Amino acid sequence: MTWNNITYAGWGRARKAKGDAARPERARALTALSKEGPAMGNCRSYGDASLNSGGKITDMTRLDRILSFDDKTGLLQVEAGMTLGELAEMFAPKGWLPMVMPGTGFCTVGGAIAMDVHGKNHHNEGSFGQHITQITLIQNGVSRDVTPNDDALWRATIGGLGQTGIIASATMQLKSCKGDVMMVTERRAENWDDHLAILDASDATYVVGWIDATARGAALGRGIVEEGETGAGLVTKPKKSRTIPMDAPNFALSAPIVKMFNNAYYRRVPAAGRTVVKPIQEFFFPLDKIHDWNRLYGKRGFHQFQCVVPLDQADALKEILEKIAHSGLASPLAVLKRMGPGRAGYMSFPMEGYTLAVDFPARDAAQSLIQQLEDKCLKAGGRIYLAKDALSRGDNIKAMYTEYGQWAAEVAKADPTKTYETDMVRRLQLRNEQ
Ligand SMILES: Cc1cc2nc3c(=O)[nH]c(=O)nc-3n(C[C@H](O)[C@H](O)[C@H](O)COP(=O)(O)OP(=O)(O)OC[C@H]3O[C@@H](n4cnc5c(N)ncnc54)[C@H](O)[C@@H]3O)c2cc1C
Repeated sequence: MTWNNITYAGWGRARKAKGDAARPERARALTALSKEGPAMGNCRSYGDASLNSGGKITDMTRLDRILSFDDKTGLLQVEAGMTLGELAEMFAPKGWLPMVMPGTGFCTVGGAIAMDVHGKNHHNEGSFGQHITQITLIQNGVSRDVTPNDDALWRATIGGLGQTGIIASATMQLKSCKGDVMMVTERRAENWDDHLAILDASDATYVVGWIDATARGAALGRGIVEEGETGAGLVTKPKKSRTIPMDAPNFALSAPIVKMFNNAYYRRVPAAGRTVVKPIQEFFFPLDKIHDWNRLYGKRGFHQFQCVVPLDQADALKEILEKIAHSGLASPLAVLKRMGPGRAGYMSFPMEGYTLAVDFPARDAAQSLIQQLEDKCLKAGGRIYLAKDALSRGDNIKAMYTEYGQWAAEVAKADPTKTYETDMVRRLQLRNEQ
């Protein structure tokens, strides 16, 4: 296998690593590679979850073959480097979609399992891992099929940050859909209470709230709620992707510009609301058509803070938003969503409650703000999402994830030599004590 010494980064570009990477084309190469280090997908985790500084890493993105598909049951077996965007593009015209899709189509199947990702239908369908029926896991040169019957290993692997081995392939249940078009109803939410009330009352299959994290006072929490259903029909193909050619200068996302953008974005939907028809990718992966949009935040990169709090802690989340709105640091990309209880692994992020995700340019002030927000979230009985984290402390994570001990014990059995440790796992000291 050829190893290339590369410098690579999490999606936020604030955490970087230098080390040897292999990019195999054949699954059989994984037997040897699984003795060398962890796997990475498309590095769409924001922080350091898929980084291994000074060590070796296996880039899974060329292992993207479909292994089998049953068009009667919707059961699909794929290699783990296949992206969810490609699956949606391939299968939606045939009437099938991945059950759960996060906000980027560049997420690989392996990355989706290792983070147990959630989508705009979490309240209905739960998390990605709940629809996986089998995985092929390679642990230190030994390949084995793992199913939900292997209870502890299964729950340590789904949402388990890749610490139990390399996922070579997976079998998943697809969901039937009407076609590759979305009927999307957009309506304004005037403030926090209105926003939560619309989310609570919605019975749409897919629901998500864009929130203006710069609005304050009576307008705190205002935003736009989007409700979507799949449909069949003709709609113009998505526009060609564009690329951000260079790092943006510091003023690009300064407070007045973000405020202006948010104001215009809010008013783009008429006060009475509207229903529009969109290509499926535009609804699920709105940012993917601008390649490398993470460069908009300049050389220092950015952080995303995403937390979830239980339903009865909505006021604590409101306080978190208030703090963000007064900080003058928030970026336009902020999301509010109601989650259901579905989760598949010990370290899976979702819980029944409200989740808020906000981007911040990576500056010292944002770093200390995020620490305060995280402490508030912990106090409210919530947790932060490791796919977005670059700054947390291990003791906070261990307190937020109540099944952490079970995960750590199973990981120690699965990988006693710590071959699969990543920068995130070391930073948070997740494997130092059991
Ligand atoms: C614009 C954007 C929107 C997003 N929206 C959402 C969202 O709505 N919901 C959500 O849940 N997440 C969301 N995310 C986060 C993203 O879905 C997750 O970070 C996902 O894990 C990224 O997949 P990846 O293939 O890039 O994996 P990576 O980021 O490369 O890796 C993630 C983890 O998986 C492990 N891993 C990867 N492949 C394998 C494998 N084959 N075997 C074992 N371990 C493996 C890595 O070691 C690492 O720990 C979003 C990210 C972006 C950039």
